[in-house]
Amino acid sequence: MGKLGFPTFYSYIYQVIKNKGYMAIWQFQNLNKYGNIRTRIVYRQDGESFGINPNNFGPIVMVKRFKYTYKHSLLPPSLFISPTDGKTFIVPTWQEVIKGTTVEDIEWIKPKIKVETIKVENVVVKTLSSKGDTEYITTYYPTSGKYHCTCPGTWRTGGNCKHVKELRVKIGK
Ligand SMILES: [Zn+2]
Repeated sequence: MGKLGFPTFYSYIYQVIKNKGYMAIWQFQNLNKYGNIRTRIVYRQDGESFGINPNNFGPIVMVKRFKYTYKHSLLPPSLFISPTDGKTFIVPTWQEVIKGTTVEDIEWIKPKIKVETIKVENVVVKTLSSKGDTEYITTYYPTSGKYHCTCPGTWRTGGNCKHVKELRVKIGK
């Protein structure tokens, strides 16, 4: 959007409200006299006019329907209005919002829940043979609950050699 004079801007806003017919929060962004972007959030009921002094406003950069963002993976946003001071909050995040905010003014962003996969390590025990020339490797696989050993006794015992027996005792399974 280029530079708009105040009357053009005003009629633009008026048209938007007339066409959409909802209460809304608007975000105004404009360049101030120092050339910095100023952002203002304004809430207006349906048909209510914008009482903005054009002298304070300067050249308009952007006007858009504003929505608060709310992040929660499970709970939908709801509003809490303090009975004492009328302050309005999005719960359960306790984000303060301007008075008059409705749930329609909140965009619910659901972050994906990360599913953590726990890597289960195999239990490996190394034992030297009685002669001391060979190393036997005995393994327990937690995911399957199975044991394995590389010693010759494995074959004779049907997979239940002394190393496996020892490891079973240690692990208790
Ligand atoms: Zn063995």
